[in-house]
Amino acid sequence: MSELPTYASTPVADIAGVHARLVETWESGRTIPLEYRKIALRKLYHAIKDNTENIVAALKADLNKPEKESLMIEVCWLEKDILDTLAQLDKWAKDEKAPTSIIYAGLKPRMKKGPMGTVLIIGAFNYPFQLTVVPLIGAIAAGCPAIVKPSEMCPVSAALLAHIIGQALEPDAYTVVNGGIPETTEVLAQKFDKIMYTGNGQVARIVSAAAAKNLTPVILELGGLNPVFITSKADAKLAGKRIGWGKVHNAGQICISPDYVMVDPSMEEAFVQSFTDAINEFYPNGTDDKENFGRIVNDRHFKRITGLLEKSKGEVKFGGKSDAAERWIEPTLVKIGGLDDALLSEEIFGPVLPYMIVEGGVQEMSSIVRKVGDCPLGLYAFTNDAKEQEYIVNTTRSGGISFNDTMFHAAIQSIPFGGIGESGTGCYRGKASFDAFTHLRPIIDQPGWMEGQLDVRYPPYTDAKYKK
Ligand code: NAD
Repeated sequence: MSELPTYASTPVADIAGVHARLVETWESGRTIPLEYRKIALRKLYHAIKDNTENIVAALKADLNKPEKESLMIEVCWLEKDILDTLAQLDKWAKDEKAPTSIIYAGLKPRMKKGPMGTVLIIGAFNYPFQLTVVPLIGAIAAGCPAIVKPSEMCPVSAALLAHIIGQALEPDAYTVVNGGIPETTEVLAQKFDKIMYTGNGQVARIVSAAAAKNLTPVILELGGLNPVFITSKADAKLAGKRIGWGKVHNAGQICISPDYVMVDPSMEEAFVQSFTDAINEFYPNGTDDKENFGRIVNDRHFKRITGLLEKSKGEVKFGGKSDAAERWIEPTLVKIGGLDDALLSEEIFGPVLPYMIVEGGVQEMSSIVRKVGDCPLGLYAFTNDAKEQEYIVNTTRSGGISFNDTMFHAAIQSIPFGGIGESGTGCYRGKASFDAFTHLRPIIDQPGWMEGQLDVRYPPYTDAKYKK
């Protein structure tokens, strides 16, 4: 494509009609046969592949996302997810035999995998393609027509997504609705059979309330403050580099980016040195490197993040510079005094990282996690001690855990990804995406000859029947 498509909001007045067409498609049963689902997935695969350069360009325009990050985490991720889904779909979609005792074996109990129905997928801005298309792959695989509502904060990507989906898939079965609050509000006024929302907890409450009106089940993929432990048993050098990576990828605009670090006093010096060395190594030509470091999505978020930095009473140990015109914030490490610092008041969602000294070992660190966020989406602990790892697992809650790394548990596409409590509900990815849009329907067929055994269930409940 020589020019990327232009963003346009879907007229609010059209949205009910779009939804009605999808419901009609659902009722026709067209999207249910496995062959239909596979053809749609193959078409989507090729449309993404053909649009690789456009996707990279759109992400560059919206987020200055480095090309390699776009290829790894958006384009190749989606291609792999589609290919894996195609390879596994027959197996996933097969009826499952339900386990039962010998008494009921004659009923041939089984679990039928049925599509949930018409579904809605609402995405967040930070991974405009991955956060919408991975759920869409699940919806297609499960046989569900879907409306996709990308974030309006990345308009170039949202417009391209509408173009790709429009090009690849049947418009009456899979379609993009673009827009902001008025359009999303109108979409949410329609009746869906499942809604998947990715974004912040405040809007998640609006989505849940709208869904509750129709008793529509929801999957919520949210955020929170992700903690990092560096205990006395850690490799602090490795920690600095791997935490640094977790903070610079997509300029820290990731739901699983580390938000604060708790450091054992014996590890502080080595950690700060290694974080500093790592960032200098990542950006030998300076941290304003436009090729390898992203930018903050918009002025509102730029002001929010720099505002948190200004309000912090901490000491900047690395970085601290920013440029409003470029929406550039330098990877910044700040030593804070305690839990009341402004940098712990909300999820940072940018390349700023506070750390604090914690003298009371894993016990105190776990207790801080429970105080700060209770249920973060990601939890990271640098320790080579198996007992410490076990203690952390048993005394905290989080969506997932990476030991001796940040974020990487979420890089394994075949394991379910999701939060708990404030960080979300439900999960997706790989088979979990198929399951997310599938209803497990128990089915039995009661043979006539069972009547003898069933006698006890019929009134009158005479003692004679129970003595048989
Ligand atoms: P965002 O501003 O792009 O909003 C997300 C979606 O909500 C958009 O599609 C937007 O149009 C819609 N929306 C906004 N206000 C609305 C309203 N009043 N009514 C209905 N819809 C509305 O992104 P965001 O929410 O700022 O995203 C950042 C948050 O998302 C962070 O908390 C981050 O941790 C979380 N996140 C979670 C995951 C995950 O997989 N768990 C992934 C990415 C981001």
